[in-house]
This record gives sequence, C-alpha cells and structure tokens, in this order.
Amino acid sequence: MTAAVRGWCPAAWRPMAAGDGLLVRIRPALGRVSAAQALGLAAAAARFGNGEIDLTRRANLQLRGVGEADWRPLVEALVALDLVDPDPAIDAQAGLTVAPDWRAGDDTHRIATDLLALRGEWPALPAKFGFAVDAGRSCRLSDTPADIRIERSVEGGPMLRTGGQATGVALAWGEEAAAAIDLARWFRDTGGAASGRMARHPVPLPGWAQGDARPAQGGPLAAGPHPLGALYGLPFGRIAADALTALVDRPDASAVRLTPWRLLLVEDAAAVPVPGLALDPADPLLAAHACVGAPACPQASVATRDLARRLAPHVAGLHVSGCAKGCARSGPARVVLTGRDGRFDLGLAARAGYPPVEAGLDAATLLARFGAC
Ligand code: SF4
Repeated sequence: MTAAVRGWCPAAWRPMAAGDGLLVRIRPALGRVSAAQALGLAAAAARFGNGEIDLTRRANLQLRGVGEADWRPLVEALVALDLVDPDPAIDAQAGLTVAPDWRAGDDTHRIATDLLALRGEWPALPAKFGFAVDAGRSCRLSDTPADIRIERSVEGGPMLRTGGQATGVALAWGEEAAAAIDLARWFRDTGGAASGRMARHPVPLPGWAQGDARPAQGGPLAAGPHPLGALYGLPFGRIAADALTALVDRPDASAVRLTPWRLLLVEDAAAVPVPGLALDPADPLLAAHACVGAPACPQASVATRDLARRLAPHVAGLHVSGCAKGCARSGPARVVLTGRDGRFDLGLAARAGYPPVEAGLDAATLLARFGAC
C-alpha cells in the first residue's frame, strides 16, 4: 500500500491518487537532470507510469498513471538515479525553484547551493510553500509562484522578497540563504501554517524583512537557441518518454534544465528538431493551455487536450480547462473553454469558471465556431 493522498502537491514518497493512477512528483536539485538521469527517468516513466512526463509551473516533473504495485519500484528506481531523496521527510520539504539560466559559480548557483546545503535547518512548512532563487542579471521568475524569493535588485545587489510584495529588503552578499531560512522560521512561528502561503499570511512582515528594493526584471526564456544550449517547448507541458530519450541521447546533450515555462533547456545542445517538441517560440501549441482533463483527472467531465490541439492554430490565447479550477492557467485567457457536465462554457478575456458568454457547447460546435474542422 502507498501513502497516496487526494489533493494537491504530491511528492515521490507521498503520491497523489488521480483518475489515471498515482501521480508522483520529482524535484531534481537545482532543476537539473543529467543526460544519464534523463534516460533513466524516461525508462522509468515508460515502465511504471503512462509513458508521459509532465513539467509543472514550478519546474518540477510529474509521472502519472502509476499503479499501486509499481509505485515502490518506481520510487526505488528514482532514488537510485539520485532524482528522489531516500529520506521521505527531505522529499516532502518546501520546493525550491531556481532560475534555469544559471551558470556554475554564479550568484544564482551559489545561493541555491547554499540553501540546499542548509536543508536540515529548513522549518516544516505548508505543502505549497516554496522558495525561488533568481539572482541573475535579470530576474526570470517573477511570474512563477514562490513564497520567499532571493533576487537581484535593480541596484545590482541581492534582495529578499516575499510572495505578494512588490518590493523587498536589500541583503549583503553571502547572507542570502540564512536570511531566507530566518524568514521561513518567522512564517512558521507566527502561525503561517494556517494561511498556507506567504501572500495570504495576515501578520505584518518583521521590520528586518521590509524594504523598498525592487527586482531587476527580465522575464521568461523562449524556445530556440540559447547561449547555454537549446530550449525546447513542450505542448501542454508534457513530454513522452521516447521524446525525452531522443532529446538527450545524442553526443551534444549533457543535461536538461527544467523551467517553469513548459520549456526544457538542453545544455550544450544544438537546436535541431525533435519530434513532438517545439523550437519555434511562435508555435501555436506553445501559446495554448490545457490541463490534463478527462479521464486522467477525476474533477473533469470533458477531454481537453485533443480539442486544444485542434483549436490552437485557429484561436490565439486559448485555455481549455477540464473544470472551473483552471489548473493549467490561473490568469485570464483571451478564449477560455471550461468543462461542465460534459460540455463547455465559453468565456472571453476570462479565467476558467468565470461567468460564460455562452454555455453548454460541445466540441464539434466549438471546432466549427473557430474554423477548425
Ligand atoms: S482544471 Fe479541473 S479538470 Fe483540469 S486538472 Fe485541474 S482539477 Fe482537473
């Protein structure tokens, strides 16, 4: 028997029970998977899961469709690959998202390494709580969910900022990881578990964590060539095991970095086509959002991704959601289709589940409406 739970934020040692089996989350250190690890991961996904690997909005990986009997052999294989910590308590700790364009020895790499080295000092935090280290010349992760951020300010020094705050406090070089842990302890000690996330915590920040430092904005990366290698887009954030194998099983691919933007950065690799993946940042599939939908998610009453795949070339700014929760996109979309009772509600410039302009549409009607059939 597993310790499977229903709800959000699964871990490898604590998988989530979904409609298509167990869902196992993997959080590689520094968001980096070597080519050898990636090959092992692809083999494990094909053997123990549904053969697909999801890349999440916090740059984690998820395997789905894992049977009860396959869960333990899968986790043991992931531990052997050094992709999962053998200690379930460490595996369940808060997440750490690292700006994926770090270079060995730069500030992002050093601070993230410092923070990981101090893992034994991290307090117990709510399941969705997360850190972000984003200290390159341009901050990349401003739109990525995180509760405690270590960033580079517009003045050029390190800064600490909490989720939901536009500004933060300037730090001295070298004190970043300790300051982030101190702030996490403050969150725990002031009852943060009740609110779950820093942005919802009603207690004012301690004076030492308040300031007017602003992060140096840079924004996300895009598909295509990159000075560190090549960025490949994953339609709907999903890659098949054989595509992952093709991505790294070549002489010029040394490792894969995970990003929160449905992109994989293949270190040292040339930007050559790989079937099923996108190198063109204008590829319409990269602009479309669709959750896993039915039958994989028990909340869904509609299939989502086949419809999104057919509509994407015809509908800019598309979001197809299996239900009103809107897991694939929290913000508004130009066109949003929300599943309800086996049909779709159509919304414009809206979030999933918002009052529709038209309700109860079937897939054939929508394909005809948008010229996709
Ligand atoms: S939006 Fe609804 S249907 Fe889609 S994955 Fe989330 S809970 Fe499931």
